Amino acid sequence: MSRMRDYKLVVLGAGGVGKSCLTVQFVQGVYLDTYDPTIEDSYRKNIEIDNKQFSLEILDTAGVAQFTAMRELYIKSGMGFLLVYSVTDRQSLQELMELREQVLRIKDMDHVPMVLIGNKADLIDERVVPVEEGIALSGEWGKVPFYETSALLRSNVDEVFVDLVRQILRDELAA
Ligand code: GDP
Ligand code: MG
Repeated sequence: MSRMRDYKLVVLGAGGVGKSCLTVQFVQGVYLDTYDPTIEDSYRKNIEIDNKQFSLEILDTAGVAQFTAMRELYIKSGMGFLLVYSVTDRQSLQELMELREQVLRIKDMDHVPMVLIGNKADLIDERVVPVEEGIALSGEWGKVPFYETSALLRSNVDEVFVDLVRQILRDELAA
């Protein structure tokens, strides 16, 4: 039995984009529509990926408006970041620019494992951000994989977390 790897993941993004719904869907396999937007909580999930065991600690953050010492702390200790916007909210995509810069600045690393996520892909009639914009941004950022997800339909939910874990492992093995 190989050792368990402890990875700290951080879910970042504007309020209401679906960070908590994505996290709870991944960890518990249910869609919680009544989640309190002000709740910041961490979750644990053990998972096997590519025959390796991982113990994931996932911090579901809330509130991006202000820069706090708390925020700096959890970005420092985070090993991988899920940057979430909603395809129904253009402003939420804009907010990710600043968030990504904060992460890079605080981590002070050339490469930080990240995934760019356009959530609420099921809301076809309310979409304002075309898929091409997500693809373009991920290309601009370089080496940041892009997925559209639906926490509601549980589409691409496991995929984004697994991608992030694989990135962290790759960096770890290359170090
Ligand atoms: P957070 O502030 O980023 O944590 O956002 P939440 O996870 O609390 O989600 C805010 C609201 O968006 C939820 O109450 C849901 O109604 C809705 N929502 C979240 N994810 C999805 C999704 O994938 N599809 C749809 N249709 N609605 C979603
Ligand atoms: Mg939340």
